[in-house]
Amino acid sequence: MGSVLDAKHFRDEAAAYKWVEARVWPNGRVCQHCGSVDDSGPLKQSENTRIGVYKCYAKECRKKFSVKVGTIFHDSHIKLHVWLQAMFLLASSKKGISSNQLARTLGVTLKSAWFLSHRIREAMKDTSGGMFGSGFGGVEADETLQGINPDAPQDHLAGPWHMNRVLTLIDRDTGRARSIVMTEFTTEEIQRILNENVAKEAYLLTDEAGQYKRPGAQQTFHGAVNHSAGEYVSRDAPWVHTNTVEGYYSIFKRGMEGVYQHCGRQHLHCYTAEFDFRYSNRVKLGVDDVTRFTRIVEGVKGKRLTYRPTDRRIEAETTA
Ligand SMILES: [Zn+2]
Repeated sequence: MGSVLDAKHFRDEAAAYKWVEARVWPNGRVCQHCGSVDDSGPLKQSENTRIGVYKCYAKECRKKFSVKVGTIFHDSHIKLHVWLQAMFLLASSKKGISSNQLARTLGVTLKSAWFLSHRIREAMKDTSGGMFGSGFGGVEADETLQGINPDAPQDHLAGPWHMNRVLTLIDRDTGRARSIVMTEFTTEEIQRILNENVAKEAYLLTDEAGQYKRPGAQQTFHGAVNHSAGEYVSRDAPWVHTNTVEGYYSIFKRGMEGVYQHCGRQHLHCYTAEFDFRYSNRVKLGVDDVTRFTRIVEGVKGKRLTYRPTDRRIEAETTA
C-alpha cells in the first residue's frame, strides 16, 4: 500500500491546481472579479503564463484570476501542493501539529508553517450555522479552562478567574462540536451562548454549575449531574451525563498542552475551531483522513479573510 501523500496533487503543482479547482469550482470556473461562470480560458503563451491563471472573457471584465483569489490561498506564494500537504497533516493529526513540526516535515520556514496553519484553521471554521439539538435532540454543554487571560480583572490574580474559559456544546444526534471562548462565566453569558447555538426544544445536559440553572429552565428539559458529589451519570436517567463533551476535552487538552503550548487568547478561537472540525468530522462519524482533508479544501470557499497586517509581514519575510 502506498502513502496517501504519493497522490499527484501532493507532489505536482499543476495537478494540485486541477485538484483544488475541481473542488472549489464544482459547477464551472467562476471569475471572482465579475462572477461569470465558464467564460474564461488559459492565458496565451505570450502572456507569461503561470500555472492556474485564467483570463475572463466577459466583455466588461477581461481580468486575470486563479482559484486562489478570494480564498485562504490568496496572496500566498507558497506552492499549492505544499498547502495541500499541510492541510492533510492538520486534518489527520488528532491532537494537531505544531508549526515547528510542520516546518520540519514540509521543509518550509517556521514563519511559513505558522502562516499556513493559521490560514488552514480559517478553512476549518464551521460556517454552516444551525442550532444544536433541533428536533428535541440532546445537547451537552461544559467548560474548560485554557491558558491565562491577560484581560482578566487585576483583583482576580489567582485561580480559575484569570484563565480563559472555553464552553463546548456537543450535539448528540449529529455528533458535532462547537466551542466558544467565553468573555465571562455568568448566567447572562451562558444564556447568550445558548440563544445563539441551541434550539429551545433541545434537552440540555450539564453539570451542577449554578450558571446553567436559569438558562436551563428555558429549555424543554435540563438535566444536570452533580460532579462535586461524585455523580457522573444520573442514576434515574442514564442519558443525563456530560461524558461526551468530557471526551472532547481530553483530546483538546492533550493537544493544547502537548502540541500547542503557547496560545494567546486572541488566537484561542482558531484552535477551538481546529479541534471542533476534527471532532465533527471524526472516524466514528464515518469520516476518514482523506475525506476530512477534502472537507478542509472545500472549506476554503467563501471564507472572508481579514487581512491582518502581521500576516502580510510574515509572508513577505518568508517568500523573499
Ligand atoms: Zn470576470
